[in-house]
Amino acid sequence: MRQQIIAGNWKMNKTTAQAVEFARELKQSIDNNVPVEVVICPPFTALAPLAEELKGSGIALGAQNMHWEDQGAFTGEISAPMLKELGCRYVILGHSERRQYFGETDAGVNKKVKAALEHGLIPIVCVGETLEQREAGVTEQTVAGQLKGALAGLEQEQVAGLVIAYEPVWAIGTGRTASDQDAQQVNNFIRKVIAEEYGAAAAEAVRIQYGGSVKPANARGLLSQPDIDGALVGGASLKVEDFKGIIDAIG
Ligand code: PEP
Repeated sequence: MRQQIIAGNWKMNKTTAQAVEFARELKQSIDNNVPVEVVICPPFTALAPLAEELKGSGIALGAQNMHWEDQGAFTGEISAPMLKELGCRYVILGHSERRQYFGETDAGVNKKVKAALEHGLIPIVCVGETLEQREAGVTEQTVAGQLKGALAGLEQEQVAGLVIAYEPVWAIGTGRTASDQDAQQVNNFIRKVIAEEYGAAAAEAVRIQYGGSVKPANARGLLSQPDIDGALVGGASLKVEDFKGIIDAIG
C-alpha cells in the first residue's frame, strides 16, 4: 500500500520569519493520524529554521533543487550533502520552471537524481508536457522520454523508492487543472513505463503525484484516482488553510 504524499513547493516565496510562522500554524492544525506524508519545500534560506521548527512534528522538509556535485566552484549552487546536513528528506528535481528558465535537461536531472540518492535524499522527479505537446498528441512520448532520461542507470530498488510528480506544464500556476481522468491516465502510463523498464515491483511501489493548480476544491477527485499517490502543490501550499484543505481531502 503506497502512502500518499502531499508536498508544498513554495518556489521563491516567504521570508524566513513567514516560513516559521506558517510551519507553527500548520503543525497545530493538522491531524497527525491522517494517513499522509506532508512535506514542505521552502526556499534554501528557510531550510535551517524550518528544520528546527518542524522537529518531532512528522512534517518532512524538502529542497527545491540541488547541484549534482558534492562541492566545488559552482557559484550560487547547493549540494546534496548540504541539504542532508540541514535535515532535508526530499528534493524536487527537474521542475518545469527549472527546465524552462534555467536550461535543465534530462541528462542534468539524471545526474542530480543519482547524487541525491547517493546522499540519502529522496528525489521528487518532475515530468510533464507543454500545451503544444499535448495538442500535438505527444504527451506520452514526452513524459516517457523525460522519465527514461531522468532515471537512466538506476537500480530497480532505487526507482521503487522515488517520488515522481506528473505536472503538465500548462496546468502549473495557471488555475487550469487536468481532469481527474486525464491525470489518472498519464499517471497510469508512467507506472506502465516504470514496469517495463524497472519491473512490476518497482512500478507497484513508486509513488506518483499529480501537480498543477491543485486546490482544496479539486483535490478529492484527483487524489482518489488509483494511480495518483499525492500532490505537488505550488500556489495553494502558501496558505495554511488551503494546504490543510488539500491534506484533508485524503481519506
Ligand atoms: C508546482 O509548482 O509544482 C505547481 C504544481 O504549482 P501550482 O500548484 O501553483 O500549479
